[in-house]
Amino acid sequence: MSRPAIYLKKGRESSIQRFHPWIFSGAIAQKRGAPAEGAVVDVYASDGTCVATGHYQEGSIAVRILSFSGPGLPNDFWMEGLRKAYALRERLGLCLGRNAPTTAYRLVHGEGDHLPGLVVDYYQGVAVVQAHSAGMFLARAEIVHALKELYGNDLLAVYDKSAGTAPYKAGLDLQDGYLYKSDAYNQTDVHTIREHGHPYVADWEQGQKTGFFLDQRENRLLLGQMARGARVLNLFCYSGGFSVAALSGGAALVHSVDSSQRAIDLLHQNMALQTLPAHDHEAHTADAFEFLKSSPKGMYNLMVLDPPAFAKHTGAKKSALQAYKRLNAVAMDRIAPGGTIFTFSCSQVVDKTDFALAVFSAAAISGRRVRILHRLGQAPDHPVNIYHPEGDYLKGLVLYVE
Ligand code: SAH
Repeated sequence: MSRPAIYLKKGRESSIQRFHPWIFSGAIAQKRGAPAEGAVVDVYASDGTCVATGHYQEGSIAVRILSFSGPGLPNDFWMEGLRKAYALRERLGLCLGRNAPTTAYRLVHGEGDHLPGLVVDYYQGVAVVQAHSAGMFLARAEIVHALKELYGNDLLAVYDKSAGTAPYKAGLDLQDGYLYKSDAYNQTDVHTIREHGHPYVADWEQGQKTGFFLDQRENRLLLGQMARGARVLNLFCYSGGFSVAALSGGAALVHSVDSSQRAIDLLHQNMALQTLPAHDHEAHTADAFEFLKSSPKGMYNLMVLDPPAFAKHTGAKKSALQAYKRLNAVAMDRIAPGGTIFTFSCSQVVDKTDFALAVFSAAAISGRRVRILHRLGQAPDHPVNIYHPEGDYLKGLVLYVE
Protein backbone atom coordinates (compact mmCIF):
# COMPACT_ATOMS: atom_id res chain seq x y z
CA MET A 1 0.00 0.00 0.00
CA SER A 2 1.45 3.33 -0.96
CA ARG A 3 1.61 6.13 1.56
CA PRO A 4 -0.68 9.12 1.28
CA ALA A 5 1.00 12.22 -0.14
CA ILE A 6 0.81 15.96 0.35
CA TYR A 7 1.59 18.34 -2.51
CA LEU A 8 2.73 21.83 -1.58
CA LYS A 9 1.86 25.07 -3.29
CA LYS A 10 4.60 26.56 -5.43
CA GLY A 11 7.41 28.07 -3.33
CA ARG A 12 6.07 26.67 -0.05
CA GLU A 13 8.92 24.18 0.28
CA SER A 14 11.26 27.00 1.35
CA SER A 15 10.52 26.59 5.07
CA ILE A 16 11.38 22.89 4.73
CA GLN A 17 14.69 23.80 3.14
CA ARG A 18 15.33 25.79 6.32
CA PHE A 19 14.46 22.69 8.40
CA HIS A 20 11.33 24.16 9.97
CA PRO A 21 9.59 21.08 11.39
CA TRP A 22 5.97 22.01 10.60
CA ILE A 23 3.87 22.39 7.47
CA PHE A 24 0.82 24.58 7.88
CA SER A 25 -2.43 23.66 6.17
CA GLY A 26 -2.30 26.86 4.08
CA ALA A 27 0.83 25.61 2.28
CA ILE A 28 -0.94 22.53 0.90
CA ALA A 29 -2.12 22.47 -2.72
CA GLN A 30 -3.58 18.97 -2.63
CA LYS A 31 -3.70 15.70 -0.73
CA ARG A 32 -3.60 12.28 -2.35
CA GLY A 33 -4.67 9.01 -0.76
CA ALA A 34 -6.91 10.63 1.88
CA PRO A 35 -4.46 10.72 4.81
CA ALA A 36 -6.02 9.74 8.14
CA GLU A 37 -5.26 11.53 11.42
CA GLY A 38 -1.76 10.58 12.46
CA ALA A 39 -0.82 8.86 9.19
CA VAL A 40 2.75 8.94 7.89
CA VAL A 41 2.71 11.05 4.71
CA ASP A 42 5.27 12.00 2.08
CA VAL A 43 5.51 15.67 1.21
CA TYR A 44 6.22 16.81 -2.35
CA ALA A 45 7.26 20.22 -3.65
CA SER A 46 5.36 21.63 -6.64
CA ASP A 47 8.11 20.36 -8.98
CA GLY A 48 7.43 16.79 -7.82
CA THR A 49 10.50 16.22 -5.62
CA CYS A 50 9.90 14.57 -2.28
CA VAL A 51 11.10 17.01 0.41
CA ALA A 52 9.98 15.38 3.65
CA THR A 53 8.07 12.65 5.44
CA GLY A 54 6.00 13.33 8.53
CA HIS A 55 2.88 12.83 10.61
CA TYR A 56 -0.34 14.20 9.17
CA GLN A 57 -2.98 15.82 11.35
CA GLU A 58 -6.13 17.85 10.69
CA GLY A 59 -5.65 21.43 11.85
CA SER A 60 -3.44 24.40 11.30
CA ILE A 61 -0.22 22.37 11.73
CA ALA A 62 -0.95 19.78 9.05
CA VAL A 63 2.37 17.90 8.99
CA ARG A 64 4.99 17.47 11.69
CA ILE A 65 8.16 16.52 9.88
CA LEU A 66 10.08 13.42 10.94
CA SER A 67 12.55 13.22 8.07
CA PHE A 68 13.79 15.74 5.53
CA SER A 69 14.87 12.98 3.16
CA GLY A 70 11.71 11.07 2.23
CA PRO A 71 9.92 9.27 0.77
CA GLY A 72 9.23 7.08 3.78
CA LEU A 73 11.11 6.60 7.02
CA PRO A 74 14.21 4.42 7.35
CA ASN A 75 13.60 1.09 9.13
CA ASP A 76 15.71 2.17 12.09
CA PHE A 77 14.05 5.60 12.33
CA TRP A 78 12.81 5.31 15.93
CA MET A 79 15.91 3.60 17.24
CA GLU A 80 18.18 6.16 15.61
CA GLY A 81 16.05 9.06 16.87
CA LEU A 82 16.22 7.81 20.45
CA ARG A 83 19.90 6.91 20.19
CA LYS A 84 20.76 10.45 19.12
CA ALA A 85 18.62 11.90 21.90
CA TYR A 86 20.36 9.65 24.42
CA ALA A 87 23.83 10.57 23.12
CA LEU A 88 23.04 14.23 23.78
CA ARG A 89 21.96 13.52 27.39
CA GLU A 90 25.12 11.45 27.84
CA ARG A 91 27.15 14.45 26.69
CA LEU A 92 25.30 16.54 29.29
CA GLY A 93 26.41 14.10 31.99
CA LEU A 94 22.87 13.00 32.75
CA CYS A 95 23.14 9.25 32.07
CA LEU A 96 25.40 8.19 34.94
CA GLY A 97 23.16 5.48 36.38
CA ARG A 98 21.03 4.94 39.47
CA ASN A 99 23.67 6.08 41.96
CA ALA A 100 24.39 9.40 40.26
CA PRO A 101 23.38 12.72 41.89
CA THR A 102 20.82 13.23 39.08
CA THR A 103 18.80 10.24 37.88
CA ALA A 104 15.98 11.87 35.90
CA TYR A 105 16.11 13.78 32.65
CA ARG A 106 14.11 14.56 29.54
CA LEU A 107 15.16 12.07 26.88
CA VAL A 108 13.05 13.49 24.05
CA HIS A 109 11.96 17.10 23.80
CA GLY A 110 9.78 17.15 20.67
CA GLU A 111 11.06 19.46 17.93
CA GLY A 112 14.23 19.99 19.97
CA ASP A 113 15.10 16.34 19.31
CA HIS A 114 13.73 16.20 15.75
CA LEU A 115 10.74 14.19 16.99
CA PRO A 116 7.93 16.75 16.82
CA GLY A 117 4.96 15.88 19.02
CA LEU A 118 6.85 13.51 21.33
CA VAL A 119 8.04 14.00 24.90
CA VAL A 120 9.81 11.25 26.84
CA ASP A 121 10.97 11.81 30.42
CA TYR A 122 13.20 9.20 32.04
CA TYR A 123 12.72 8.84 35.80
CA GLN A 124 15.42 6.51 37.12
CA GLY A 125 14.23 3.51 35.13
CA VAL A 126 10.70 4.55 34.18
CA ALA A 127 10.11 6.26 30.83
CA VAL A 128 7.03 8.47 30.69
CA VAL A 129 5.86 9.00 27.13
CA GLN A 130 3.66 11.93 26.21
CA ALA A 131 2.25 12.28 22.70
CA HIS A 132 1.19 15.75 21.61
CA SER A 133 0.18 14.64 18.12
CA ALA A 134 -1.99 11.88 16.72
CA GLY A 135 0.98 10.45 14.81
CA MET A 136 3.12 10.07 17.92
CA PHE A 137 0.19 8.53 19.78
CA LEU A 138 -0.19 5.92 17.06
CA ALA A 139 3.58 5.27 17.05
CA ARG A 140 3.67 4.31 20.74
CA ALA A 141 4.36 0.62 20.13
CA GLU A 142 7.39 1.46 17.98
CA ILE A 143 8.59 3.96 20.57
CA VAL A 144 8.30 1.42 23.40
CA HIS A 145 10.17 -1.13 21.32
CA ALA A 146 13.01 1.34 20.70
CA LEU A 147 13.11 2.37 24.38
CA LYS A 148 13.49 -1.26 25.43
CA GLU A 149 16.33 -1.72 23.02
CA LEU A 150 18.01 1.52 24.06
CA TYR A 151 17.93 0.95 27.81
CA GLY A 152 17.93 -2.84 28.13
CA ASN A 153 17.74 -3.78 31.82
CA ASP A 154 17.77 -0.10 32.83
CA LEU A 155 14.16 0.17 31.66
CA LEU A 156 11.71 -0.85 34.37
CA ALA A 157 8.53 0.48 32.81
CA VAL A 158 7.01 2.74 30.19
CA TYR A 159 4.02 4.84 31.17
CA ASP A 160 1.80 6.62 28.66
CA LYS A 161 0.66 10.07 29.83
CA SER A 162 -0.97 11.24 26.59
CA ALA A 163 -4.64 11.44 27.58
CA GLY A 164 -4.37 15.16 28.35
CA THR A 165 -2.08 16.10 25.46
CA ALA A 166 -2.88 14.02 22.36
CA PRO A 167 -5.57 15.64 20.19
CA TYR A 168 -8.92 14.34 21.42
CA LYS A 169 -10.61 15.39 18.18
CA ALA A 170 -8.63 12.72 16.33
CA GLY A 171 -10.92 10.10 17.89
CA LEU A 172 -8.07 8.20 19.57
CA ASP A 173 -8.58 5.89 22.49
CA LEU A 174 -6.98 8.14 25.09
CA GLN A 175 -6.28 6.54 28.42
CA ASP A 176 -3.17 6.88 30.57
CA GLY A 177 -1.50 3.68 31.64
CA TYR A 178 1.51 1.38 31.50
CA LEU A 179 2.67 0.27 28.07
CA TYR A 180 5.36 -1.95 29.55
CA LYS A 181 6.46 -3.28 32.94
CA SER A 182 9.57 -5.37 33.47
CA ASP A 183 9.78 -8.13 36.07
CA ALA A 184 12.00 -5.85 38.18
CA TYR A 185 9.35 -3.11 38.26
CA ASN A 186 7.62 -4.01 41.50
CA GLN A 187 10.13 -2.46 43.83
CA THR A 188 8.79 0.03 46.35
CA ASP A 189 10.97 3.06 45.59
CA VAL A 190 10.13 3.15 41.90
CA HIS A 191 8.73 6.70 42.07
CA THR A 192 11.79 8.17 43.78
CA ILE A 193 14.34 10.02 41.67
CA ARG A 194 17.29 12.26 42.53
CA GLU A 195 18.15 15.73 41.31
CA HIS A 196 21.50 17.24 42.28
CA GLY A 197 21.63 14.76 45.15
CA HIS A 198 18.14 15.52 46.51
CA PRO A 199 15.51 12.77 46.44
CA TYR A 200 12.06 13.60 45.05
CA VAL A 201 8.91 11.72 44.23
CA ALA A 202 8.01 11.82 40.54
CA ASP A 203 4.32 11.01 40.34
CA TRP A 204 3.59 10.33 36.68
CA GLU A 205 0.27 8.66 37.49
CA GLN A 206 -1.42 11.45 39.48
CA GLY A 207 0.94 14.41 39.11
CA GLN A 208 0.98 17.31 36.66
CA LYS A 209 2.67 17.07 33.26
CA THR A 210 4.83 13.93 33.28
CA GLY A 211 5.26 14.05 37.07
CA PHE A 212 8.12 16.43 37.81
CA PHE A 213 9.27 19.74 36.31
CA LEU A 214 12.67 18.68 35.03
CA ASP A 215 13.05 21.91 33.06
CA GLN A 216 13.78 23.89 36.26
CA ARG A 217 16.68 21.64 37.39
CA GLU A 218 19.52 24.13 36.87
CA ASN A 219 17.46 27.05 38.15
CA ARG A 220 16.76 25.19 41.40
CA LEU A 221 20.50 24.67 41.78
CA LEU A 222 21.12 28.40 41.35
CA LEU A 223 18.41 29.24 43.87
CA GLY A 224 20.05 26.90 46.39
CA GLN A 225 23.32 28.76 45.96
CA MET A 226 21.64 32.09 46.72
CA ALA A 227 19.49 30.93 49.63
CA ARG A 228 21.80 30.99 52.64
CA GLY A 229 20.03 32.69 55.54
CA ALA A 230 17.16 33.84 53.29
CA ARG A 231 13.46 34.11 54.13
CA VAL A 232 11.93 32.43 51.08
CA LEU A 233 8.46 32.53 49.53
CA ASN A 234 8.00 29.84 46.86
CA LEU A 235 4.83 30.62 44.91
CA PHE A 236 3.32 28.03 42.53
CA CYS A 237 5.56 25.50 44.27
CA TYR A 238 4.04 22.25 42.88
CA SER A 239 5.93 19.40 44.61
CA GLY A 240 8.41 21.77 46.22
CA GLY A 241 11.52 21.51 44.05
CA PHE A 242 12.56 25.10 44.74
CA SER A 243 11.66 24.74 48.44
CA VAL A 244 13.97 21.74 48.88
CA ALA A 245 16.74 23.56 46.99
CA ALA A 246 16.34 26.65 49.22
CA LEU A 247 16.30 24.69 52.49
CA SER A 248 19.30 22.60 51.55
CA GLY A 249 21.06 25.82 50.58
CA GLY A 250 20.60 27.06 54.15
CA ALA A 251 17.46 29.22 53.93
CA ALA A 252 16.24 30.45 57.32
CA LEU A 253 12.61 29.80 56.44
CA VAL A 254 10.59 28.72 53.41
CA HIS A 255 6.88 29.20 52.82
CA SER A 256 5.54 27.18 49.88
CA VAL A 257 2.22 27.98 48.19
CA ASP A 258 0.19 26.08 45.60
CA SER A 259 -3.54 26.03 44.89
CA SER A 260 -3.54 22.28 44.32
CA GLN A 261 -3.90 20.07 47.39
CA ARG A 262 -2.40 17.18 45.43
CA ALA A 263 0.73 19.29 44.81
CA ILE A 264 1.01 20.15 48.51
CA ASP A 265 0.63 16.46 49.42
CA LEU A 266 3.51 15.65 47.08
CA LEU A 267 5.53 18.46 48.61
CA HIS A 268 5.07 16.93 52.09
CA GLN A 269 6.25 13.58 50.73
CA ASN A 270 9.31 15.27 49.26
CA MET A 271 10.13 17.09 52.49
CA ALA A 272 9.95 13.79 54.38
CA LEU A 273 12.55 12.30 52.02
CA GLN A 274 15.18 14.96 52.73
CA THR A 275 17.90 15.12 55.32
CA LEU A 276 17.91 18.85 55.88
CA PRO A 277 19.51 21.09 58.50
CA ALA A 278 17.08 22.39 61.16
CA HIS A 279 14.64 24.59 59.31
CA ASP A 280 11.34 26.33 59.29
CA HIS A 281 9.00 25.27 56.50
CA GLU A 282 5.29 25.91 55.98
CA ALA A 283 3.12 24.71 53.10
CA HIS A 284 -0.09 26.52 52.17
CA THR A 285 -2.83 25.34 49.85
CA ALA A 286 -3.86 28.76 48.61
CA ASP A 287 -4.10 31.09 45.66
CA ALA A 288 -0.64 32.56 45.05
CA PHE A 289 -1.87 36.08 44.18
CA GLU A 290 -3.99 36.26 47.33
CA PHE A 291 -1.25 34.87 49.54
CA LEU A 292 1.27 37.34 48.17
CA LYS A 293 -1.08 40.31 48.48
CA SER A 294 -1.83 39.54 52.11
CA SER A 295 1.80 38.89 53.09
CA PRO A 296 3.38 41.62 55.23
CA LYS A 297 5.81 43.92 53.40
CA GLY A 298 9.42 42.92 53.93
CA MET A 299 8.59 39.48 55.34
CA TYR A 300 10.53 37.68 52.56
CA ASN A 301 13.81 38.50 50.87
CA LEU A 302 13.85 35.71 48.30
CA MET A 303 10.84 34.88 46.15
CA VAL A 304 10.13 32.34 43.42
CA LEU A 305 7.31 33.07 40.97
CA ASP A 306 6.80 30.07 38.69
CA PRO A 307 3.19 30.22 37.52
CA PRO A 308 1.61 27.83 35.01
CA ALA A 309 1.43 29.05 31.39
CA PHE A 310 -0.86 32.08 31.56
CA ALA A 311 -1.25 31.97 27.76
CA LYS A 312 -1.69 28.66 25.93
CA HIS A 313 -2.37 30.31 22.55
CA THR A 314 -1.66 33.68 20.92
CA GLY A 315 -5.21 34.93 21.57
CA ALA A 316 -4.51 34.89 25.29
CA LYS A 317 -1.16 36.69 25.07
CA LYS A 318 -2.33 40.16 26.04
CA SER A 319 -4.12 39.07 29.19
CA ALA A 320 -1.17 36.81 30.06
CA LEU A 321 1.22 39.78 29.88
CA GLN A 322 -1.12 41.72 32.17
CA ALA A 323 -1.09 38.83 34.64
CA TYR A 324 2.74 38.62 34.63
CA LYS A 325 2.90 42.36 35.18
CA ARG A 326 0.46 42.28 38.11
CA LEU A 327 2.11 39.31 39.79
CA ASN A 328 5.61 40.75 39.50
CA ALA A 329 4.49 44.22 40.59
CA VAL A 330 3.00 42.85 43.81
CA ALA A 331 6.12 40.74 44.45
CA MET A 332 8.37 43.78 43.95
CA ASP A 333 6.15 45.78 46.27
CA ARG A 334 6.31 43.14 49.03
CA ILE A 335 9.91 42.00 48.93
CA ALA A 336 12.37 43.25 51.56
CA PRO A 337 15.01 45.81 50.50
CA GLY A 338 17.97 43.97 48.99
CA GLY A 339 15.75 41.02 48.10
CA THR A 340 15.94 38.68 45.14
CA ILE A 341 13.12 37.46 42.89
CA PHE A 342 13.30 34.42 40.61
CA THR A 343 10.52 35.12 38.13
CA PHE A 344 9.48 32.78 35.29
CA SER A 345 7.15 32.42 32.33
CA CYS A 346 6.58 29.07 30.63
CA SER A 347 4.05 30.40 28.08
CA GLN A 348 5.29 29.49 24.62
CA VAL A 349 3.57 32.47 22.98
CA VAL A 350 5.21 34.97 25.34
CA ASP A 351 8.78 35.43 24.15
CA LYS A 352 11.82 36.71 26.06
CA THR A 353 11.30 40.31 25.00
CA ASP A 354 7.58 40.31 25.88
CA PHE A 355 8.33 38.85 29.28
CA ALA A 356 11.17 41.28 30.01
CA LEU A 357 8.81 44.15 29.08
CA ALA A 358 6.10 42.87 31.44
CA VAL A 359 8.67 42.65 34.25
CA PHE A 360 10.01 46.11 33.38
CA SER A 361 6.47 47.55 33.62
CA ALA A 362 6.05 45.80 36.96
CA ALA A 363 9.24 47.43 38.25
CA ALA A 364 8.02 50.83 37.12
CA ILE A 365 4.69 50.32 38.91
CA SER A 366 6.43 49.25 42.12
CA GLY A 367 8.69 52.30 42.06
CA ARG A 368 11.64 50.20 43.29
CA ARG A 369 15.12 50.12 41.80
CA VAL A 370 15.51 46.71 40.16
CA ARG A 371 18.53 45.05 38.56
CA ILE A 372 18.78 41.87 36.49
CA LEU A 373 21.30 39.36 37.85
CA HIS A 374 20.61 36.31 35.69
CA ARG A 375 18.64 35.44 32.56
CA LEU A 376 17.42 31.87 32.84
CA GLY A 377 15.90 29.26 30.57
CA GLN A 378 15.01 25.59 30.45
CA ALA A 379 17.59 22.93 31.35
CA PRO A 380 19.71 21.71 28.41
CA ASP A 381 17.95 18.35 28.20
CA HIS A 382 15.12 20.49 26.76
CA PRO A 383 17.07 21.61 23.66
CA VAL A 384 15.76 24.23 21.28
CA ASN A 385 15.89 23.49 17.56
CA ILE A 386 17.41 26.67 16.14
CA TYR A 387 14.97 26.50 13.20
CA HIS A 388 12.06 26.27 15.64
CA PRO A 389 12.52 29.14 18.11
CA GLU A 390 9.01 28.46 19.47
CA GLY A 391 10.67 25.66 21.45
CA ASP A 392 12.41 28.22 23.68
CA TYR A 393 9.47 28.30 26.08
CA LEU A 394 10.88 28.77 29.60
CA LYS A 395 12.11 32.25 30.41
CA GLY A 396 13.34 33.45 33.76
CA LEU A 397 14.92 36.51 35.32
CA VAL A 398 16.68 36.79 38.64
CA LEU A 399 16.07 40.29 39.93
CA TYR A 400 17.74 42.24 42.71
CA VAL A 401 15.32 44.68 44.28
CA GLU A 402 16.78 47.56 46.30
N1 SAH B 1 7.89 25.47 40.47
C1 SAH B 1 7.35 24.15 40.29
C2 SAH B 1 6.49 24.03 39.05
C3 SAH B 1 5.31 24.97 39.00
S1 SAH B 1 4.04 24.49 37.91
C4 SAH B 1 8.49 23.14 40.30
O1 SAH B 1 9.66 23.55 40.29
O2 SAH B 1 8.22 21.94 40.30
C5 SAH B 1 2.78 25.59 38.32
C6 SAH B 1 2.03 25.29 39.60
O3 SAH B 1 1.13 26.39 39.85
C7 SAH B 1 1.16 24.04 39.61
O4 SAH B 1 1.56 23.21 40.66
C8 SAH B 1 -0.28 24.55 39.85
O5 SAH B 1 -1.02 23.71 40.73
C9 SAH B 1 -0.02 25.88 40.51
N2 SAH B 1 -1.07 26.92 40.38
C10 SAH B 1 -1.83 27.22 39.32
N3 SAH B 1 -2.59 28.31 39.57
C11 SAH B 1 -2.30 28.70 40.83
C12 SAH B 1 -2.74 29.78 41.66
N4 SAH B 1 -3.63 30.67 41.24
N5 SAH B 1 -2.22 29.88 42.90
C13 SAH B 1 -1.31 28.98 43.35
N6 SAH B 1 -0.86 27.96 42.60
C14 SAH B 1 -1.33 27.83 41.35
